[in-house]
Amino acid sequence: MLPVVALVGRPNVGKSTLFNRLTRSRDALVADYPGLTRDRQYGKAEVEEHPFIVIDTGGIEGNEKGIDALMAEQSLIAIDEADAVLFMVDARAGLTSADQGIASHLRKQDKKVFLVANKVDGIDADSAVADFYSLGLGDAVHQIAAAHGRGVTQLLTLALTPHIEELGRPKAQENDEFDGDYDENIDHEALDQKNIDEAPEETDTIKLAIIGKPNVGKSTLTNRILGEDRVVVFDMPGTTRDSVYIPMEHNGRPYTLIDTAGIRRRKNVTDIVEKFSVIKTLRAIEDANVCLLIIDAQEGISDQDLSLLGFILEAGRSLVLAVNKWDGLDDHVKERIKSELDRRLGFIDFARVHFISALHGTGVGHLYESVEEAFVSATKRISTSMVTKILDMAVFDHQPPMHHGRRIKLKYAHAGGYNPPIIVIHGNLAKNLPLSYKRYLMNYYRKSLKIMGTPIRIEFRETS
Ligand code: GDP
Ligand code: GDP
Repeated sequence: MLPVVALVGRPNVGKSTLFNRLTRSRDALVADYPGLTRDRQYGKAEVEEHPFIVIDTGGIEGNEKGIDALMAEQSLIAIDEADAVLFMVDARAGLTSADQGIASHLRKQDKKVFLVANKVDGIDADSAVADFYSLGLGDAVHQIAAAHGRGVTQLLTLALTPHIEELGRPKAQENDEFDGDYDENIDHEALDQKNIDEAPEETDTIKLAIIGKPNVGKSTLTNRILGEDRVVVFDMPGTTRDSVYIPMEHNGRPYTLIDTAGIRRRKNVTDIVEKFSVIKTLRAIEDANVCLLIIDAQEGISDQDLSLLGFILEAGRSLVLAVNKWDGLDDHVKERIKSELDRRLGFIDFARVHFISALHGTGVGHLYESVEEAFVSATKRISTSMVTKILDMAVFDHQPPMHHGRRIKLKYAHAGGYNPPIIVIHGNLAKNLPLSYKRYLMNYYRKSLKIMGTPIRIEFRETS
């Protein structure tokens, strides 16, 4: 699970400057998720090869009237979601009452807070930051210049250290579909075998995450599912970033429903305020075998939906799409939504789409068929001989192109892991294959192996 850092502070202290630097730096896994929430921006960043998630909480005015309310509205969730909070102040502007308001609030939180004085470029930093010690947030004021990058790596390394396991270890496998960096010193095939040995069995419990932006009908669907199936006891989560894990059964198959909405939510009237936790959603996706992404038919496809879809694809999870609130729509509206789906989501050709009404239960029962299909596909055992044979057929049907006058040779393939299925292709110049040919191979494997509902990841290894 990636550690999470939240940037908190009054407007103009440089939060978005720091956010942009972190998420757009040369080696960042650039991934921006627009529009997930009104007030918070999420991005993926990296420090010293360690990926983490950064949240820009937007502006907190910190004015006397209602600092608590404002904090609650705008960044309590982000603070709650975070492992570490960077409380940013402006070294040039000096200490303000807004800073004091935010500090007193942060002192009440049970979170690791780093006090960060920004804009120390070109000023006498030590004297400029002296006042900030009075905020009573630990014994250090970390000096940075976000605009220039000064002090940033050092600060992030410090903030993340307790949350990164084995800090010396290089980052795990990147989530790039076609990445296949070959390191002679690593026994890749043994690692792949380990992946395979640890993969879930076809008959294992399916961990199904119900994913969607606020108000698409997640709770309604969860309640509908639970009303019809046998529920075993479960625990309620402690914090914003935990989902509810609900063991259940359907047609004799064990499931764990990962409920990001919280089925008890409706009982608490004050909870109608948006309590959508991006981090919770991210963790649920990571932890799931299959994600059920819900889209609101009455609203069409939004940026939020696409961001959530991005998370799911990046994690390589199996996916079933449910277009909810299909009840009571005119035929021409239905047609419009279907063509919008084709236009905007046509690129995810592996996922089944269901049109449902969580409210009335229409179509809900059929979701299981696609969920099971996706799970079985994701965990399907594929043998080296089979994937090599399919590779031979694909190459026979359509030769790889030349690369600078040399023929790219694909030699053999083996399975590299499951959930999602990974196919490792060995060859020479294999990494120089054009994207179009990689896509061709992917589709060839999808059809030959009858894999539906899950992405396939193909990696290339150089073999002379
Ligand atoms: P936010 O409202 O907290 O997100 O603040 P911004 O990131 O929008 O920054 C506010 C202003 O401060 C902008 O004009 C930035 O260019 C400027 N700024 C941000 N970081 C630095 C810095 O390290 N040094 C200086 N001199 N200016 C900075
Ligand atoms: P969540 O925030 O994703 O958990 O969404 P909820 O389950 O709380 O649903 C939000 C609103 O949409 C509620 O008023 C539901 O009654 C309504 N809703 C949910 N599913 C459907 C549906 O299938 N059809 C219609 N018409 N309304 C629905």
